Amino acid sequence: MARILHRSIGQPLPHAASAQGVYITDTEGRRYLDGSGGAAVTSVGHGHPEVLAAMRAQIDNLCYAHTGFFTTDAAEELAEQLVKLAPDGLDYVYLVSGGSEAVEAALKMARQYFVETGRPERRHIIARRQSYHGNTLGALATGGNAMRRQQFQPLLPQTHHVSPCYAYRDKGSDESPEAYAARLADELEAKILELGPESVMAFVAEPVVGATLGAVASEADYFKRVRKICDQHGVLLILDEVMCGMGRTGTMFACEQDGITPDILTVAKGLGGGYQPIGAVLLSSAIFDSFANGSGLFQHGHTYLGHPVAAAAANKVVEIIARPETLANVNAMGARLQSGLEAALGASPYVGDIRGRGLFRGIELVADREQKTPFDPARKIHAKIKRQAMARGLISYPMGGTIDGVYGDHVLLAPPYTIQADEIDFLIERITQAIDAAI
Ligand code: PLP
Repeated sequence: MARILHRSIGQPLPHAASAQGVYITDTEGRRYLDGSGGAAVTSVGHGHPEVLAAMRAQIDNLCYAHTGFFTTDAAEELAEQLVKLAPDGLDYVYLVSGGSEAVEAALKMARQYFVETGRPERRHIIARRQSYHGNTLGALATGGNAMRRQQFQPLLPQTHHVSPCYAYRDKGSDESPEAYAARLADELEAKILELGPESVMAFVAEPVVGATLGAVASEADYFKRVRKICDQHGVLLILDEVMCGMGRTGTMFACEQDGITPDILTVAKGLGGGYQPIGAVLLSSAIFDSFANGSGLFQHGHTYLGHPVAAAAANKVVEIIARPETLANVNAMGARLQSGLEAALGASPYVGDIRGRGLFRGIELVADREQKTPFDPARKIHAKIKRQAMARGLISYPMGGTIDGVYGDHVLLAPPYTIQADEIDFLIERITQAIDAAI
């Protein structure tokens, strides 16, 4: 009998035995194309020889040294590399072990910044209803996904939520993308004014929403407007690129495509690429200086932060992503994935929207395409698609959930950046079959 508490109890899982490139093989010898990189984690593919060599070299020398006593070359080099690649204005890096930890650290950084600079009344966090920022209590409270939060609500700190930028459902048919973006920005400003600008600490958003709804990017100049409003009211802008960052959308950081730089930026999944658990928080000099010139201490920490083997793996992963051919492939294969999905599924009465950037694509499923009516949650369409796809040798990331009272099923596709054209075509064929079989 299995002694592990799995995420879903009573659903037997295949045992993964080995992985190479875009494929995972189980102990029965079945091969699966990793069409979602797990949960958008696998970035440079499985078993990459350069990453394995970097990890081996680190393991041979040093596996762990507590960051209260030492720093390491691996951690210092990773920070250096991330700052070089990041948009101007993000000058320092804090290394953690995953996405939720990165978001928790980002929230505490924002809070401590205001405490250190004599504005302790700034405490409110505003985020968006269509969002997921992690499962630890602060991150869970920040995320807007009511379904994920429901039973833990009594444990969560208070947060405030505004509308997501979700044109497929919310943009008026006669509203331009610019007018829609302006309406949402006005809503954010109204919320800041309602709470009292001097009490608001940060606005948190994913540039391209991942887990909650499947690769939803913003419209027009939405983030430029958001940046301006945050600046006007002295509110810090935290962008959560745990899922959409590190090359996933075709640029190293997703916010590059929105033309803005946040005060704090979180990354994780693609950073470690599945080789090691790691996350990072990038922050501005203003925030760093407030700690350096104030208490001299960021009052937060985990035992494994800056882990040298994780840093060594991430260093190599980032180096590979930064090679021009990697992002060129993300963009070329991303375009092939989008057009192939549109050709295969665009006319389906059950497909409402196909969207995304780079190798980060989402398919929204609907019972009625005209009315955009979601499927009855009891049908658990997303769970069926996942099973049907696996039976056809494809890992995909379908999800269902309630957003603003409306249930929706969607499929997230996020294959490794090394995927090739014939593998994209296989992915499209198998996800199309899986959706047909599930509905
Ligand atoms: N933030 C975003 C945008 C995410 O998508 C996720 C995970 O899906 C997290 C944070 C939490 O990351 P982790 O699962 O590594 O704790």
